[in-house]
Amino acid sequence: MDLLKKDAEFIWHPYTQMKDCRKFPPILINRAKGVKLYDKQGNFYYDTISSWWCNVHGHNHPKIKSAVKKQFDALEHVVFAGFTHEPAILLAEKLISIAPGKLKKIFFSDNGSTSVEVALKMSYQYWQNTGKAKKKNFISLDYGYHGDTIGTMSVSGVDLFNKVFSPLFFESFKAPSPYCYRCPMGKDISHCGMDCVNALERLLIKRSDTICGIILEPMVLAAGGMIVYPKEYLSRAAALARKYDVHLILDEVATGFGRTGKMFACEHADNIEPDLFCLSKGITGGCLPLGATLTTKKIFNAFYADYKKKKTFFHGHTYTANPLACSAGVASLEVFREEKTLDRMKEMIPLFHRGMEKFRDLTLAGDVRYLGMLGAVELVKDKPSKKGFPFEKRIGLEVYKRGLRKNIVLRPLGNVIYLFLPLCIRKKELEEILDRTYAIIRDSDYFLNK
Ligand SMILES: *Cc1c(COP(=O)(O)O)cnc(C)c1O
Repeated sequence: MDLLKKDAEFIWHPYTQMKDCRKFPPILINRAKGVKLYDKQGNFYYDTISSWWCNVHGHNHPKIKSAVKKQFDALEHVVFAGFTHEPAILLAEKLISIAPGKLKKIFFSDNGSTSVEVALKMSYQYWQNTGKAKKKNFISLDYGYHGDTIGTMSVSGVDLFNKVFSPLFFESFKAPSPYCYRCPMGKDISHCGMDCVNALERLLIKRSDTICGIILEPMVLAAGGMIVYPKEYLSRAAALARKYDVHLILDEVATGFGRTGKMFACEHADNIEPDLFCLSKGITGGCLPLGATLTTKKIFNAFYADYKKKKTFFHGHTYTANPLACSAGVASLEVFREEKTLDRMKEMIPLFHRGMEKFRDLTLAGDVRYLGMLGAVELVKDKPSKKGFPFEKRIGLEVYKRGLRKNIVLRPLGNVIYLFLPLCIRKKELEEILDRTYAIIRDSDYFLNK
């Protein structure tokens, strides 16, 4: 109680209207294990959103914990310019060995937004360094999300979060997103001919000489509403990037590390070869902050020159490649191997998807979408017209409150209720989470249509 009073007095929480906290204070968590978060009284909550999409192998994983403890005894932090250390080197080697395409170099930072900022700056400076100074802009997708810094907001497309800041953004061009349930081209998915890709190509035809790169989240526009899209879109966007000589920047901050059933979401499509590749969130198994931007030798080499040529990448964050975070990253990849996490997921994913399919019966479920261990239900007021609930109604909040009463964290994205499950989840836990979530949405029906 005392602590919560102090929380209310001193703390400003992220993505939170602090006025709401007076009536609805945050929940004080003091330990966690596996997929469960516990408060002081021993009440538990299923961590159904993996602690903001970070946790991979469950909380308090013994292998990750002991790696970090061991690293703490040896070296907790050191400047990463002029110095290096074993955890960063081992993690770099491991990441490069599993990365898609021609990614051979890694630049560390300390969160998802910075991993994207690094990619944007590398892309931009690559073209400056190689004599294509006209290239200054990026293409990104409506409903795409790449972080909360001003640079990353400039290439994001989630208006609710960003609109107020838009006068501060650098110019970028938005392509319509493959949001099939609400097709931006007004087509029906059965015979759309992927018209949204044509819109992207038209943008490239018009502007490619000023475009540095296309940035997108492969397979799932996560913060935009867990919009799962066809892999053909990714393949064709990648082909267009190559055809028009712009970089393909893939942001796997949310989708990386097994979340979609593959180590990286871009592996769902064949032969995707990103020029820049952003990682964070699950990179440490979800226990410490770390970001990484991977790139090709071709891009690296455009910066590699005598100092006086001024081609250096002058960028770095203070806690870049923190040794504790890197040691957690190494341990997390070892857990993937030892526990055969991705193989185990092959059994769990069909169960999860079958459970998600049942949601389609619900009167409120306009769209149901899923990939790997993430799944979402878009709530609508009226299914045939797909008409949503008004913003003021705050239906997501209502479902969230009901979820907490049933030990489930259904933190909504607008009118989208989603599960973003830790990969350590067991069959019984999965069934319980699905059953409870189903019941919560079903029972919200009466309230929401009042
Ligand atoms: C969360 C997220 C980011 C930003 O990461 P932060 O660590 O919150 O800055 C960037 N891109 C995607 C796809 C994300 O989901």
